Amino acid sequence: MGNAVKVPFLDLAGQYRALEGEITEAIGKVCSQAHFILGPEVQQFEKDFANFLGGEFAAGVASGTDALALALRALNIGSGDEVLVPANSFIASALAVLLAGSRPVLVDVDPRTHLIDLEDAERRLTERTRVIMPVHLYGRCVDMTALGEFAARNGLSVVEDAAQAHGAKWEGRSAGTFGDYGCFSFYPGKNLGAFGDGGAVVAQSEKAIARIRSLRNYGSEVKYYHPEVGTNSRLDGVQAAVLSVKLRRLSEWNMARSRLAGRYTRALSPLRELGLELPEMPAAEQHVFHIYAVQHAKRDKLLAHLHSNGVQAQIHYPIPIHLQEGYRFLGFGEGDFPVTESIAKKVFSLPLFPEMTEEQQDTVIETLHQGLLSLCD
Ligand SMILES: *Cc1c(COP(=O)(O)O)cnc(C)c1O
Repeated sequence: MGNAVKVPFLDLAGQYRALEGEITEAIGKVCSQAHFILGPEVQQFEKDFANFLGGEFAAGVASGTDALALALRALNIGSGDEVLVPANSFIASALAVLLAGSRPVLVDVDPRTHLIDLEDAERRLTERTRVIMPVHLYGRCVDMTALGEFAARNGLSVVEDAAQAHGAKWEGRSAGTFGDYGCFSFYPGKNLGAFGDGGAVVAQSEKAIARIRSLRNYGSEVKYYHPEVGTNSRLDGVQAAVLSVKLRRLSEWNMARSRLAGRYTRALSPLRELGLELPEMPAAEQHVFHIYAVQHAKRDKLLAHLHSNGVQAQIHYPIPIHLQEGYRFLGFGEGDFPVTESIAKKVFSLPLFPEMTEEQQDTVIETLHQGLLSLCD
């Protein structure tokens, strides 16, 4: 039993090899024309990405975190305002609210979907609540009909964290196109990943996106004129060129992820008898399976077994936002978000990436099966 990797968590080098010719050519063009920041490649990618999502406007920014923070700033959210954020998310969802100068109010999640629970959100409303931030976690689109009604009823703006959900849909419409703003990350490991950091904000109107374009570029639309403060958060030409090549494969990659997720669920279903909990499989287009998250009460033992057998499973996320040391000042504590806390103790993510072979997947399934059986010894 060695530690040699048999199944990686994802294989970005393999993905690069398959696209190497196209990508080097696209990068070469940016370099030879010296369009390093914003420029025609970024404009083209913004158009293509908006089209991919269904005809909205997009603005490239420096990261998913910045996308969220800029969207909040564009809504004039700031000091004294509160933003509802699910407790079960990556840290950046809450961090972005702090970067915008306002207060993240965490909300527990639904035990079935692991997504924001609107009943709990209702309990956490105050006069200062201005925005709700649904996170389409693991690549699964939140029920945006219910969320939109909740927001309208309570006079809230909606900023979607779609950092894990490029191409996920709710009733035929793309995640990121429902809210006042939709925010995406192109961190390399996301379903659509750059060769470094990158992000995008999506909006429904030219006016809403113009505000993002100004904020990302020192509060300026005309060079050296600054009607507002803004920041520096732009997408690089090289990243946009890479993203344009990859965007053409995104639908196909998302389908491969869905197919592999379905195959996991079929193969792992009998293991429910051994205490394994599987993700619910919603309508095919709703979930783009950025992550295939399962649960087990003896997660740490299973994970150790997977790792010692060369299967790179991970945990998303081991410590919930409200229990992170740097976030204690928010005033939440143990017991405040029982569903999120239970998930954090039991959840782990199996390797899943578009290039994954059935043979690799079978190795994961067999290793997990062995691990579950050894728990019974
Ligand atoms: C990745 C991620 C972010 C942040 O994106 P970066 O590009 O890494 O800044 C925000 N929210 C969620 C849910 C993410 O997974």
